[in-house]
Order: sequence, then C-alpha cells, then structure tokens
Amino acid sequence: MEIKDKYLFSNVHDFEYIKKVLLNKKLSGTADIVNEYELKLANFFNSKFAVATSSGTSAIQTALFAAGVNQGDDVIVSSTCPVMSVFPIIQSGANIIFCDTVKDNFGLSVNEIETLITSKTKAVIEVPMWGYPTNVKELQRVLKSKNIPLILDLAQAHGTKLNNHYLSYYGDISCFSTHDRKILATGEGGFLLTNNENYYNKSKSFIAFGNMNTIDYGLNFKLGALQAALGLNRIDYISKQLKIRKSNAQYIKDGLEHPQISELAIIEKGEPNYYTLLLKLNLEDTHKFIDYLSDKGIPSDIIRYNCKVLYKYPILSKFKRVCPNSEKLLQSITTIPVHPGLKRHEIDYIISTINNFRY
Ligand SMILES: *Cc1c(COP(=O)(O)O)cnc(C)c1O
Repeated sequence: MEIKDKYLFSNVHDFEYIKKVLLNKKLSGTADIVNEYELKLANFFNSKFAVATSSGTSAIQTALFAAGVNQGDDVIVSSTCPVMSVFPIIQSGANIIFCDTVKDNFGLSVNEIETLITSKTKAVIEVPMWGYPTNVKELQRVLKSKNIPLILDLAQAHGTKLNNHYLSYYGDISCFSTHDRKILATGEGGFLLTNNENYYNKSKSFIAFGNMNTIDYGLNFKLGALQAALGLNRIDYISKQLKIRKSNAQYIKDGLEHPQISELAIIEKGEPNYYTLLLKLNLEDTHKFIDYLSDKGIPSDIIRYNCKVLYKYPILSKFKRVCPNSEKLLQSITTIPVHPGLKRHEIDYIISTINNFRY
C-alpha cells in the first residue's frame, strides 16, 4: 500500500470565490478581497490584526523587520526547525544563535536562553514543529521581562492550543504559511498575526514598498487576490479538518501495541493540531523503523526533508552551537500521516504495520 503524505484540500466553493475575483478584474494584493481575508483571519484566530503575505517565509521576514531586527543583531532560535524558519534571519543581516530545546519537546530551553541573551538579542523565534504545542506561555513571560519580542513560526501549527488559547495568543508576532501542504492552503501564501498596532503598521508598510511614501523601506510581499479568495473560503473548513485529524490520530494511538513506540509526550494543557502524529521511538536504531515504514509505503517527514539539527547543514554550519536535547529529539521521532484524505483501511494498515515491527 502507498499512503499519501499530503492532503490537498479543494471544495466546490473555491470556484465561486475565484470567479468573483476574476469578474472584479482586480487581481493584485491591494484588492478589497485581501482586506476581507485579513479580517476573517484575525477573527478566526482571535487576533487584533492579520497581514496576508506572499509566503510563510516572507511573513517571518516581515516579522523580523517589524521587531526591528537589523544588521549585526542576534536572533535566538532552535535548530530543530526547517531552513525556511531561519533564512530570513540571514536576509536581515542578523546572526542566528541556536539554542537547545527542552527534553522531548520543540520548545526552547528557557534556562539556556537566559545565558544567550545579550544587548544584541533583538528577537527570539519559537517553532512548534508538526503542530505540537510548546510552553510559549513561560517563554513569553521570560522574554517580556527582558523586553525582547517573541516571534512564533506557526507554519505547521494552525489551530494548536495551549491553555485553550491558540499559540498565537502568547506571541508578539505569529507567522503562518498557507503553502499547499499546510492546514490552511492557498497554493503559496502566508500571513502574520499580532495584537500590537505598531508591529501591524510596520508590517503592512514593509510588505508594500514602505507604502511608497519614499520615507519608509519595504519590499513587495503582498498576497495576490486569487490566493486570498481561496483562503477566504477555506478558513471555514479548518475546524472540521482539525477534528478529523484529531480523531485519526486518536484511532492510531488507541491501536498502538508496540511497547517501545508511543506518541511524543504532549505538554500539560496543550492540544496538537495533528498536522502529523509524532511518534517517540525508544528503539536502538530509529532509522531501521523509519525505513521499514517507508518500505511499506508509509512516508515520514524525517526522510522526506532529511531532518537534522540545522547546524549540520553546510549553509548553516558557521552558526554551530551543539544542542544535545535537540539532536536526541530529532533522532528519536518520526511522523505518521493522519490527514483527512486517509481512508479507514489505510489507517488500519498503518496501525498493523507499526505493531508488526520487529528488530
Ligand atoms: C512551510 C514552513 C515555512 C515556510 O513557509 P512557506 O510558505 O513555504 O514560505 C516556515 N516554517 C515552517 C516551520 C514551515 O513548515
């Protein structure tokens, strides 16, 4: 059997929304429908402001600009995220300072952060990988006391909660991707959320050439009207999608019998969005298990993206700081698809394949 690792949402109403934009003939990022999309995003995620952007990466770039990150500054981030989370730091001319994560979780170690913060530290980025919640409340508390903005890269975490709040509740600026693979998908695209009017105004200006006022700097990171139209429609289906993902994940968890294989621990009062199910593998050789699943047609992001701590990739090796918890974490997990495109017999196949694993 070949299990698809990707869920491509589509829905009959997409066509109506797209048609409306085409009939209007305004396709650019300044079309009214983009504002409408931003209002709906802000409303859905309980945020004061939303800014639609051309991608998740440009949302992060915009957040760094709004937070005032400049040439020579430091930005602290984990090494367990994808390159897209940290490349914008390089583009800002700032230094990447890798900080270890806590044990068994993608959250930054607050103890270590305290030792890394200097007068050069201008922002911290937290990346809750695969939609598993991290202790952003504690992180926010520590950073607030030091006046350092917390940027959340929630590209994989639409709908993830902590204490019944979306994670964005705890960030100064939260960045999302709406790439085809993500939970809200517009092909390419992204957005950021903030409750801070100053960050909002700076972001709106940055994505539109500094409002072309010839005083402020900016680039063009606006989202096009056609993508906004898709997003506008598809926001309505996020909740249903999250529900199916959660029930698929629960069904698999209930069926797991292998004593060395269980879900990665979820932090207290946390709710993953089940972008994928994450398994914690207490095995001698985790790659043997991941390759076994792959041979049986069950894909893993660990293989797909060759997941490693970022400082092991050539382009980021100059920022190397050894992060033992992060290394151990990435070497002891794998992802299991639980998206709404899966059929019951496929999910049963995933369970029996995992349970049948032998050394
Ligand atoms: C997808 C993703 C991004 C980048 O988003 P794009 O829209 O592809 O630019 C950034 N960070 C994380 C964690 C992602 O998963």
